[in-house]
Amino acid sequence: MARTTLDPTDSTDRELIFAVGRVAMASAELEEELRCALSELIGGDQIWIIAEGQSLDWLASYVKLLIASELETYEALIEREDSSKHSSWRRKRHEYLLSISGCLPKIPPLRDSRNVVVHGIWYRECLFRHECKEYCSDSPYGRLDKDAVMYHADRSRMRRESSRQRWSIPQVERLADEITAIRSRLQRARWDMMLASTDNV
Ligand SMILES: [Zn+2]
Repeated sequence: MARTTLDPTDSTDRELIFAVGRVAMASAELEEELRCALSELIGGDQIWIIAEGQSLDWLASYVKLLIASELETYEALIEREDSSKHSSWRRKRHEYLLSISGCLPKIPPLRDSRNVVVHGIWYRECLFRHECKEYCSDSPYGRLDKDAVMYHADRSRMRRESSRQRWSIPQVERLADEITAIRSRLQRARWDMMLASTDNV
């Protein structure tokens, strides 16, 4: 009979637990960066009233809406005016919007994997044993790790059959790295924008 939970005293299970913790932490940091992006886009000190406690989905959708709206305004302006007349701040702002906009499509697939990894129940062995191929799927990273221990994450879903995915520890680590990379790109773009704003004063 397969163990229903991981054993925190087992060194391999501990590595997985550590990697899942990294995904949870990276995800919280990405949400915080999206709250900062909202603040940058809207301006003012009161944005926290609506942004605090919101989900990754909500934050990313709101940022997307604001960016689309500001890009539309800016692009209409470019059509009317010679862009060489635009201030370096305005050009920097345009770069900022494009840069954030380029990051946003990467968030939903990472969110889906985050949900499986952080909210799933983890098993060391497949509950379906020989029928694993039939009932379980590979993680979005495929079968990269032929020799690695493949754990199972079983994620309950509303009104649907639960999703059972095979994950190796390096794949969970990779997910944490990818979430962190998106957060760093968003943060770098915002810092560049903030520096441009300071230079413009
Ligand atoms: Zn399986």
